Amino acid sequence: MKRRWLCWLLSGLSVLAQAETDLLGVRSWSSAAHTRYVLDLSAAPHYQLSPDSTPGQVWVDLPDVHQVAAHPLNPKPDGLVSSIAFETAGDGLRLRLDLHDAASPVVFLLPPATRHPGYRLVVDLIAHDDEPPAAPATPATTSPSPSLSLSPTPTPTPTPTQVAEAEAETARRDVVVAIDAGHGGQDTGAIGPGAVYEKTVTLAIARSLQKQMSAVKGLRPVLTRDGDYFIPLVERREIARRHYHADIFISIHADASPSRGASGASVFALSLKGANTATSRFARALAERENQADQVGGIKVPEHDDVLAGVLADMVVEGSLEHSLHLGGDILDELKGFSPLHSHHVEQAGFAVLKEPGMVSLLVENGFITNRHEEQHLIDAAYQERLAHAILQGVERYCRHYPLPGTYFAWQRQQSAHPRTAEVN
Ligand SMILES: [Zn+2]
Repeated sequence: MKRRWLCWLLSGLSVLAQAETDLLGVRSWSSAAHTRYVLDLSAAPHYQLSPDSTPGQVWVDLPDVHQVAAHPLNPKPDGLVSSIAFETAGDGLRLRLDLHDAASPVVFLLPPATRHPGYRLVVDLIAHDDEPPAAPATPATTSPSPSLSLSPTPTPTPTPTQVAEAEAETARRDVVVAIDAGHGGQDTGAIGPGAVYEKTVTLAIARSLQKQMSAVKGLRPVLTRDGDYFIPLVERREIARRHYHADIFISIHADASPSRGASGASVFALSLKGANTATSRFARALAERENQADQVGGIKVPEHDDVLAGVLADMVVEGSLEHSLHLGGDILDELKGFSPLHSHHVEQAGFAVLKEPGMVSLLVENGFITNRHEEQHLIDAAYQERLAHAILQGVERYCRHYPLPGTYFAWQRQQSAHPRTAEVN
């Protein structure tokens, strides 16, 4: 009896939901390798990425969503999308996206947030790499990827000549460095006393680092974000690792403190033991604050991801963690040449954005935006370039000390006519 009552109640609720889910608008943003469509909805919809989707065409089924005559939609193609349309399917709609090139779709729902009173269904398209995927060679032990939400690029069987050519080429492949500009979109990050947003500073430093790094032979910089839009923390790691096959991941931030006098840069690596143990109270507080980015952006990080990440951290990250500490030390050495340091050693805490096995991952806090003096520095283009240059110098130094097998740096060391003693850090 009780159960029947519950069934009736649930079916009643679902009818109610069906009657109320209206499509109110469609928005889009694009960067070079990423296009995002956001559907504004009056209620939480049922949605499904259609199994009929192909690499060139993405369908999202919305069985209980209706178009409202009062809100005529005129969705426009953008970025990776060549055409977009809503088609009637049964009692609801089907979103059809035709793509210029193959891309991986990710669909998720954002609940109402302070600055967005309605539900938003996000359809992200991440371009497949045109190049053959490089072998993810890192100093760390790697294991099969646990959660593949992006489908791998299919590779045709190469001929023996192609194999030989590819081997010669990959023997000197670039080290891929993913530069992650912290925050973005509705997640402003910390705000300084002069109203400078952390998200603006991080993007400027990231772009400067990308520009300077692209001039260095042997390094290939890529950006996880190249505009003012929100990316969930997990997705930042996925873009870096699964899309770009990054060897190194550097998340760029600016620090904040209730104490206006707090100052200086610091570098953080992941703590193996999770968010509850950190090398200092300062590191733990910072990790808690940076991990809130998803909540600000409207996403509740699923519990299982955190558990999984913790397990992975214990099992797999150890090799890359050790190298993250080496790289962090090299970056700190370069930063201290011109910037005060808040901490003179690499701090460790449970940063969600760093929990990706197989990548050497760091978070760099480039100074305190809440310190009026440092805030002025952080918005100064010349100072941003110096910070980026110091990070670049640290990366170069690390790559020479610990050349990844198969990379240009390893080849360069082999070519060295004079055998030298191994440099020890
Ligand atoms: Zn931050």
